Amino acid sequence: MKTVIYPGSFDPVHNGHLDIVNRAVEMFPSVTVAVSHVVSKEMLFTPEERVAMLREVTEGMVNVRVVDYSGLTVAFARQCGASAILKGLRTMGDFEYELRMAMMNRHLAGDLDTVFLMTSPEWAFLSSTLIKEVVRLGGGVEGLVPARVAAHLRRKFEKGGSGPWTL
Ligand code: ADP
Repeated sequence: MKTVIYPGSFDPVHNGHLDIVNRAVEMFPSVTVAVSHVVSKEMLFTPEERVAMLREVTEGMVNVRVVDYSGLTVAFARQCGASAILKGLRTMGDFEYELRMAMMNRHLAGDLDTVFLMTSPEWAFLSSTLIKEVVRLGGGVEGLVPARVAAHLRRKFEKGGSGPWTL
């Protein structure tokens, strides 16, 4: 079996994402975390910043690599030689969206399956959008994101939430 790719925007990475990665490395020979350039929602961090944060927090995890990509996820999965696309599921809302996406990907690349892992209950309410909203309004997200990500979030908002930012 080959790698699986775990695509998403990861703006920023949170404990729900890391829980999926941690569990996936026990099941698959390797996991490629793939940071999408597609801007369908407002992004706080650039793709380079999102990749850098993911690399920081997965450092030392064997068989995990972090890359960015643009274009179709199935095309990138093929390019990586991936055997499947990995997705996390939280709610029925996620399921409805992900089911349609999996069907479309199946249409585009019939040999590429999508594999779903259910969120661990403690992270079921977590989304990057909610985390950004809480920090923007001055709330704390300790315990929901790695400490280094919380620090990057604070710095980003201190800087007014725009412009390039380096690790
Ligand atoms: P979000 O902005 O909602 O966190 P992403 O595009 O960054 O979404 O998510 C990337 C992948 O991680 C998707 O497969 C998504 O379903 C999954 N994911 C997001 N949040 C969680 C969570 N709390 N628990 C499990 N999986 C999650």
